[in-house]
Amino acid sequence: MMAELERSYEKYFRQNRLPHLWCPGCGNGIVMKAIVQAIEKKGLTQDNTVIVSGIGCSSRASGYMDFDTIHTAHGRAIPFATGIKLARPELNVVVITGDGDCTAIGGNHFIHGCRRNVDLTVVLFNNNIYGMTGGQASPMTPMGGKATTAPYGSVDRTFDACALAEAAGATYVARSTAFHVQHLTDMIAKGFDNKGFSFIEAMVQCPTAFGRRNKFKSPADMLKWMRDHSVMKAAWDKLEDVKKGEAIGQGKFPIGLLYESSGSELDYDAAYDQVIERAGGAGK
Ligand code: SF4
Repeated sequence: MMAELERSYEKYFRQNRLPHLWCPGCGNGIVMKAIVQAIEKKGLTQDNTVIVSGIGCSSRASGYMDFDTIHTAHGRAIPFATGIKLARPELNVVVITGDGDCTAIGGNHFIHGCRRNVDLTVVLFNNNIYGMTGGQASPMTPMGGKATTAPYGSVDRTFDACALAEAAGATYVARSTAFHVQHLTDMIAKGFDNKGFSFIEAMVQCPTAFGRRNKFKSPADMLKWMRDHSVMKAAWDKLEDVKKGEAIGQGKFPIGLLYESSGSELDYDAAYDQVIERAGGAGK
């Protein structure tokens, strides 16, 4: 029975597209599996769920997932997903994106998706670097972190994508890591419950492009780093500001549900329905 449960997720993958092309030890598969487990947990189906991805290592996931999927242009997953949601509001639309895809090339689409509160669930695989294109620094490379474009350490400050999402208007914001698989699955599943823009940052190890340049000996070392530097939100909130500042200085970060709106904001589709009503019901 346990084995059956454990393997029940396999139906969500295109077996003929496997094995995947991710490097040994890459964490992308962990996050991809957490997404399908969250889908299963919430009783969503392969017929009513669409997966939309951008470009990059993580965005390859859409090719492996047996749903209606679209692998779009670099940074453009959110606009494609917005179009799908407006045309077919009954569908669950999931966006898979990476830190470069979402916060650099697609940065404007990201903030405007949040601002519009489009009813999407966006999972950002944060591997802290451009993996597929050769290890260039992304907006989420830690300050001081090494990349091919920053061989002596990046001098750019790092985007906090969760803070950015909240400030831009997302109505559900959470963070977890590839180390905390069950927690990550729960954060994604809760995101499906939100009628509006749900953003989940999933920290994920990239041993090839980030780890080996930044003194991580192995993928397991990277997972241990996530374990040792993450702080559950409830404990984070109890820290005084000074202690919080010290924790941030040590590379620590909160995980969990970081923000959830009271539910008073209309999602984009509902707002458009009102426009249609004002216009006399044409077009829908
Ligand atoms: Fe994964 Fe990094 Fe390899 Fe890309 S380069 S597949 S993110 S380990």
